[in-house]
Amino acid sequence: MEDNFTKDTEDEQVKDNEQAGASTEETKNDDTEKRTRYCSSCRRGEDKTGKLTEFPGGFLLCNDCIQKGLNFFGNNSKGDFTINDGTSEKKMDNFGDFMKELEKLTGFPLFKINPVKKAAPKKEKAAQASKELSLKNLPAPHVIKKHLDEYVVGQDRAKKSIAVAVYNHYKRILSPKNKDVEIQKSNLLMLGPTGCGKTYLVQTLAKMLDVPLAIADATSLTEAGYIGDDIESVISKLLSAAGDDVEKAQKGIVFIDEIDKLARKTETRSRDVSGESVQQGLLKLLEGSSIEVPVGASSKSAMVPLVTVDTSNILFICGGAFPDLEEIIKKRLLKKSSMGFGAQLKDSYDRDVTVLSKVTTEDLREFGMIPEFLGRLPVIVTLEAMSEDMLVRILSEPKNAILKQYHELLAIDAVDLQFTDEALHIIAKKAMEKDIGARALRAVIEEYMLDIMYEIPKDPNIGRVTITADYLENKGGPIIEMRGSIAQDSVPALP
Ligand code: ADP
Repeated sequence: MEDNFTKDTEDEQVKDNEQAGASTEETKNDDTEKRTRYCSSCRRGEDKTGKLTEFPGGFLLCNDCIQKGLNFFGNNSKGDFTINDGTSEKKMDNFGDFMKELEKLTGFPLFKINPVKKAAPKKEKAAQASKELSLKNLPAPHVIKKHLDEYVVGQDRAKKSIAVAVYNHYKRILSPKNKDVEIQKSNLLMLGPTGCGKTYLVQTLAKMLDVPLAIADATSLTEAGYIGDDIESVISKLLSAAGDDVEKAQKGIVFIDEIDKLARKTETRSRDVSGESVQQGLLKLLEGSSIEVPVGASSKSAMVPLVTVDTSNILFICGGAFPDLEEIIKKRLLKKSSMGFGAQLKDSYDRDVTVLSKVTTEDLREFGMIPEFLGRLPVIVTLEAMSEDMLVRILSEPKNAILKQYHELLAIDAVDLQFTDEALHIIAKKAMEKDIGARALRAVIEEYMLDIMYEIPKDPNIGRVTITADYLENKGGPIIEMRGSIAQDSVPALP
């Protein structure tokens, strides 16, 4: 939008408003000067708001309300605007033109409509436009998968399913609508134990596609009117992640974690229906509806302008660990293959680490998710639990792997940091014991790296430090090599 209102123009607007106020003041008679005037929008008196600006028709507005209105229209510049000067009517389809007309009609500059900020040079604008997701630059599933491979270790099936679902989702919203065939929304449900990369996958994806992402925790969501965040707050989060740009937010991704905590509790006799009603509440968001959310604030109030966000093109991804779901799946599989080999089969299912991938919506219903909710999450993706080998790979393979980060930190001190393979496996084993997946790795490694990071910079002659299994098991120290005793080109140069 060319005629944009930005915060940078605020000072000028205040000045302009003061001028405008001054010119109306001249016409005031003594009587009105004594009476308190009130802002027609927020109803505060002029003594509280500062000088009010008078609009044609006696409409008075304070600077706060004007600014809020401008911010609001800045995001919604398109619309039907009409000016009637008493003899003719003029229609405009955007707010900028409307303000220019109003200025001409009233004869004084109401507000600064041209942004003080210099318009981005053409090249920059073109670069921005080409960065925006379009059918032309939408990456194909194999490209999405390849990018995810650079950051997320393992989870190949999940990465493939996500790549296809996301590709289809954006193809659906970016291509012209075909009236005969309506492609359905492909919201995702991700199942997998804690720390296996659910959130990380979504974060990597949103960054790659350069779309806004909001992450919410299902346990903090409540029905409107209860303590906690109401369900629509997830859309507020998305809007602020999109820099209050409604168009951008409408193409964003919402990730709702811990969705399994909303399961209906079948065993309790009490009327604990809160999780179920949040599932109900989420239905309209998932399938697409218009939600009014406050701009620049997390809750609705009289002073905060609202914008309408349409959720039909927002990709919703729900994730959860779903404990005990495996038992439900095994029970179903056993029932199906019934007769005879029961014990033998149970044994093989117990050892099968891929049981979770055999999940059906029936199993999830039995777990306590309501059918309407599952119906709106047509793509189910399962992630594997972390194995020791996967954890070792996570330590060193991803583009921003923890070990690469430590290596970089010590390289700044001209020290080469190495880990033996055995040491990596010990770190992975210790992380496995914590039972929180890959999330444990950083805590484990930090415990051992503290002394290294403290001691090494003391001596500029140190050229290499190798972390060994003995050091991690408190049986010895790390191997320290001095600059003079090793090939100079194998260690970082001194600054
Ligand atoms: P959750 O499945 O509980 O959402 P997260 O995605 O938050 O787990 O994982 C926690 C952290 O562990 C991530 O920030 C990331 O650094 C690391 N991590 C988890 N899984 C993987 C993986 N498969 N590949 C690389 N890093 C991972």
